[in-house]
This record gives sequence, structure tokens and C-alpha cells, in this order.
Amino acid sequence: MLIVMNANATQHEIDNAVRAVESLGFRAHVMPGATRTAIGVTGNQGAVDLSHFENLPGVAEAIRVTKPYKLITLDLRPERTIVDLGDGAKIGDGSLAIIAGPCSIEGRKQAFVVAEAVKNSGAQFFRGGAFKPRTSPYAFAGLGEEGLKILAEIREEFGLKIVTEALDESNVDLVEKYGDMIQVGARNMQNFTLLKRVGRSRLPVLLKRGMAATLEEWLLAAEYVMAEGNYQVVLCERGVRTFAQHTRNTLDLAAVPAVRRISHLPVIVDAAHGTGRSYMVTPLARAGVAVGADGVMVEVHARPDEALSDGAQSLKLDEYEQLVREVRAIHEVIA
Ligand code: PEP
Ligand code: MN
Repeated sequence: MLIVMNANATQHEIDNAVRAVESLGFRAHVMPGATRTAIGVTGNQGAVDLSHFENLPGVAEAIRVTKPYKLITLDLRPERTIVDLGDGAKIGDGSLAIIAGPCSIEGRKQAFVVAEAVKNSGAQFFRGGAFKPRTSPYAFAGLGEEGLKILAEIREEFGLKIVTEALDESNVDLVEKYGDMIQVGARNMQNFTLLKRVGRSRLPVLLKRGMAATLEEWLLAAEYVMAEGNYQVVLCERGVRTFAQHTRNTLDLAAVPAVRRISHLPVIVDAAHGTGRSYMVTPLARAGVAVGADGVMVEVHARPDEALSDGAQSLKLDEYEQLVREVRAIHEVIA
């Protein structure tokens, strides 16, 4: 259920409606908007009697939600969500967020060389995995906390915001300690206990689309995070598994307008995992910006041939610099 307050409802009336929701054992999610405040109600298993709320002071209407999601929708929040990492680093505010860095943090020197290029490009977000989901149990799985410490040093040195993956619930505490945004990877998109845990975090969440996830499944994963009270979620289209063999994954660019039609959450495009081939990364990143993504994620390495993970889709430093120029130019045209 969704409670829409009058445009001129007072804080007292909003608080009163929240108490009415909570007194029934449900959870109230207050979403202030430009024109009115809405309150999403979760925790009810069946239909709620709307008359409990319709006649409360300041309430414009109580609406039964028939869709499976409540909090991610434009019905609840018609304005776009802006995800704010602090110090002016925002995603979804109309700027183009560039999240770049190596697939994995392999060592201090490797990470710093890339971080310097990311900083010089004017990007605000640095990515790099310390906990890596790898297909083979024998592949490099990341440096763990040592990698996170390197990321924290990069934040200090360059003022970049750190986006890094938590592979399971036990990693989240560490990512919260050293990072600025928690990435939930494609393989974990339906790890519901992890989603709930990051939903209780103070850090924003970057939620990758599962490699065979429908739009609805992906949005419901975001709903899991929001239902726990964390509304700072960015969706990341990173390609889905298809029969195509010319790419690692098929980057589903139509997902961007499809998300926009339903949700207020920002959506970005990961052109690295979405293609798996470095020569395709820049063209697909350009396309992602052209279809209206709030940002792009790419992987960068000084020596992609020597990368311990995802070298085939990593841009060299000069290729990355060129990409930034190109995606910015496209963003200016469509903004
Ligand atoms: C990554 O960002 O390096 C990664 C493992 O991404 P995904 O979960 O999309 O495969
Ligand atoms: Mn990767």
C-alpha cells in the first residue's frame, strides 16, 4: 500500500500516518518529494484495509499496490532518486557518473597507477575488487582486507569515492569500514540475505543485474534493499547471458529506458562485463550514455595482458582517457 499525503501536509500529520502504519505492525517508508510526501507500506502479507489511513488528517489517498514492487516505483516517488556519496559525488543528479578502475586490486602500485588516471580524467568514482567472485576456484580471488586498505589509501590520496564488492554478508562490515559504496555482483543479485544486510547499511549500494535476471527480478532485488530502509540504490546493467559468442555477455541497453519507465532509481551501464572485449567497451559505453544511463562503469589496467582478472575487457590508460572524452561529449548532447 501507498499513502499519498496532501501537498501541504504538516510534519505532524506525516508522523501521525507513520504511527498508524507502525501500530499495525507494518513498516513505513517515508519518501519526501518535490510536490508531496508519499509513504510506502511494507510488511503486510495480505491486503490492508485502506480505510485505516484514508481518513487520517493530511492524507490525500491510500492506494493498493498491485505490482510486486512498492518502493522502487515512480508511483511512490515521481522524482528521480539522487544517490549521494558525499563531497559532491552524486549519481542520478543529471551529471554523468564515471566509475572506473581495475577489475581486481592486485597491489598498491597497480591500483595507484590506474587511480591517478581516473583522477586526472575528472571521474569521481574508483572501482576495484578486493573480494572477487571467480568462476574457477583456482583463479585469483582478490587481496581481501589488504585490497580494501589500498582502496582506502586511494581515497585519501586522490579524493575518489570507492566502489567495491561485498561477496557475502561477512564482507559487508569490512567494505563499510573502507569503502564508500557496496557493490552487489551479478552472481549475488538474488542472494537475499546479502541484499537484506546491505539494506541495513549506511552506504549506498550498486546493484548489478544478474546474468539471467529479468527486469522484474532485478527490480525486486533492489526492493529487498530498500525494504530494509536503505533507499540509496543504483542499478547497474552489466549484460546478460545469451547465445551470442562474439561477446561475453549481451549488454541490454533497452534495460535503461525500461528501468526509467518504472523506477526512480539511477541506472548505469557496465560496458566492461557487458561486452567482455576491450575493443567494444568504448562503443558500448557511448551507447549506454546515449540511451540515458546515469553513468558508466569500465575496467582499466596499465597492462591488461598481465591483469589477474578480466584483462580482456580492460582498457589501457590512454584508451580510458579517450573513452571519457567521448562519453562526456555524448552526455552533453543528450543532457
Ligand atoms: C566486477 O565488477 O568485477 C564483477 C565481478 O562484476 P559482475 O558481478 O557484473 O560480474
Ligand atoms: Mn571484472
